[in-house]
Amino acid sequence: MTDSARLVQNNWNCVQEAVQAAADGSHWKQEVQVIGVSKYVDAPQTNLLVQAGCQELGENRPQFLWEKFDWFAQEQSTQPQWHMIGHLQRNKVRRTLPMLKMIHSVDSLRLAKTLEDEAAKIKRRIAILAEVNVTQDNSKTGMPESELSPFLEQIADMPHLELRGLMAMSTHFAGGDQARTEFARVRELRDRLQAAFPQFDLRELSMGMSGDFREAILEGATLVRIGSSLWEGIR
Ligand SMILES: *Cc1c(COP(=O)(O)O)cnc(C)c1O
Repeated sequence: MTDSARLVQNNWNCVQEAVQAAADGSHWKQEVQVIGVSKYVDAPQTNLLVQAGCQELGENRPQFLWEKFDWFAQEQSTQPQWHMIGHLQRNKVRRTLPMLKMIHSVDSLRLAKTLEDEAAKIKRRIAILAEVNVTQDNSKTGMPESELSPFLEQIADMPHLELRGLMAMSTHFAGGDQARTEFARVRELRDRLQAAFPQFDLRELSMGMSGDFREAILEGATLVRIGSSLWEGIR
């Protein structure tokens, strides 16, 4: 093993342990999956994380995803499972969609319609999460809470989209207590939507990053998107 491989392996083990400890300490007893966010590093470095055992990867920019997808197609016998976690422009949907297992960041009805059309063309269903903005911070992406019900009504008529839950971020640098309050709001919103739309199975809550995944797990996160902590000492 190279030094870099050893570092990434160690970071991965530490993150897995911390996530498991938080899950064991939470009231929800849910299984929590780590999405390794690889946006900070290149494809060979990303592969160190895959080799360390992380099979689910997240990218926030389509171009970065394309580059890495091509690298894995050429250099490795298998692809990791790719998650889109950042804003996806509609003109990039056609190229990006076939590479993805899940899109966490569906933030408008227009994007959902484009995804539905392209998924229909390639005859597959795509798992999505609705991104909601529960912060006071205007710069953050995601739909306001009030848009979620009308959004779900429309999604119900899009057979190629499989809505699995919600994704959210907490206010940047707000600190643990505020993050917990915001994550709790996401869970409560999900519970209300689940009651109103029994045709969906809204089991997933994608919330929590390196700085606040413990708070997110305590409030019911099932998917945590972790980047920085996995690349300590590497980048
Ligand atoms: C970069 C990013 C993450 C990971 O953040 P870290 O603080 O580096 O763990 C999670 N979610 C989204 C949407 C991101 O863009």
